[in-house]
Amino acid sequence: MTTRTSTRRQEDLRHRAHVLFPGGVNSPVRAFRAVGRAPLILERGKGPYVWDADGRRYLDFVGSWGPAILGHADDAVIEAVVEAATSSGFALGATHPLEIELAERITAAMPSIERLRLTSSGTEAAMSAVRLARAATGRDLIVKFAGAYHGHSDGLLVEAGSGVATLAIPGTAGVPAATAASTIVLPFNDPEALSLAFTEHAGRIAGVIVEPVLANVGIVLPVPGFLDHVRLVTQSDGAILIFDEVITGFRVAPGGAQARFGIRPDLTVLGKIIGGGMPIGAFGGRADLMELVAPVGPMYQAGTLSGHPLAMAAGIATLDRLTPERYEELDGAAGRLEDGLHDGARAAGRSVAINRAASLLTVFFRPEAPTNAAQAMDSSREEHARFFGAMLDRGVLLPPSPFEAWFVSLAHGAPEIDEAIAAAAAAFAA
Ligand code: PMP
Repeated sequence: MTTRTSTRRQEDLRHRAHVLFPGGVNSPVRAFRAVGRAPLILERGKGPYVWDADGRRYLDFVGSWGPAILGHADDAVIEAVVEAATSSGFALGATHPLEIELAERITAAMPSIERLRLTSSGTEAAMSAVRLARAATGRDLIVKFAGAYHGHSDGLLVEAGSGVATLAIPGTAGVPAATAASTIVLPFNDPEALSLAFTEHAGRIAGVIVEPVLANVGIVLPVPGFLDHVRLVTQSDGAILIFDEVITGFRVAPGGAQARFGIRPDLTVLGKIIGGGMPIGAFGGRADLMELVAPVGPMYQAGTLSGHPLAMAAGIATLDRLTPERYEELDGAAGRLEDGLHDGARAAGRSVAINRAASLLTVFFRPEAPTNAAQAMDSSREEHARFFGAMLDRGVLLPPSPFEAWFVSLAHGAPEIDEAIAAAAAAFAA
């Protein structure tokens, strides 16, 4: 890699991208609007670092928005992908042995997943899980929680997190009113609101879809007992409980949030890490429910590139590296970062709260740690934007939104964590 010192190349690419893509990007949070900066055009990643098109290096805490748990361009993952491409070619339009290999690793780590279907994105997987809940119950209503993001299918965009929250889009244009009306949005961590909804709509709710740790309004942890309550209420009403573990799966514990909190959902949605940086998603769960999926059952779901051999190879190579000791390492690194950020903020007299779930964390620019989306969204956008800019100027790339998680990877060793802490101390002080 040659280091380019000119900043003209990135500027030129930005101009060309702006002509081609809405906002110059192919996914909204890449536009950096929330932080008032020009979007980065990133060209390369290795370990904990990414490089922009002008050759400038950044210590990265976006981690491809989750998949890069080993760091970028891990050698073993690259080797596995090259080997798969060389020996298999690309998608062959039939079941490939690597699909079975990956699926067996997933079911071994998550016993609630008795049977699964692979997709090419988390959006597809969440959309299909919701369809399955409806197919299984013959009911229409879906409950989701404010600030949760489950991909961009119509019914799940109501009061969503991620880019929807970042851009403060009140309701997404193009979603039919009837579709939005079949989604009930409730506050996270509010058991009474959930019970009330189930009393009001008894026997009419197909399922509840929940991010067991909210990760798309920044990290918001479930209060003790909340997820148990969600499990209890859904079970007693005959509704399907869907855990969206696209972010938490293989991240907060080897068995995901369901292992960490000891809850067995009926269906689980996965993505990100299980594809090792390649496009992927999966939904799965109770065998009797999955038997309703075509070709066995009446619920149609399909995908030309589902179970793509290169994604399978990258996913397998990634999961095989994630032994329990690695999770301890990740927790240690993220804990050290959390402590260092607290110290830096305190020394600078800044009032921040940090929510952390294993290697996911968010710095909220408000005095108290939020326990729901409304509180999370009350975090100062201006202070985040200033902090983001000050960190970027010091060579540290954070999510360009106050409502996204920082992702710590196994490539973030003690020196990189210390580098981030030092940058943060200076950024808080600035
Ligand atoms: N569910 C959750 C919890 C997510 O965070 C995301 C994406 N960040 C999705 C679903 C959608 O996944 P994808 O972007 O792969 O469609």
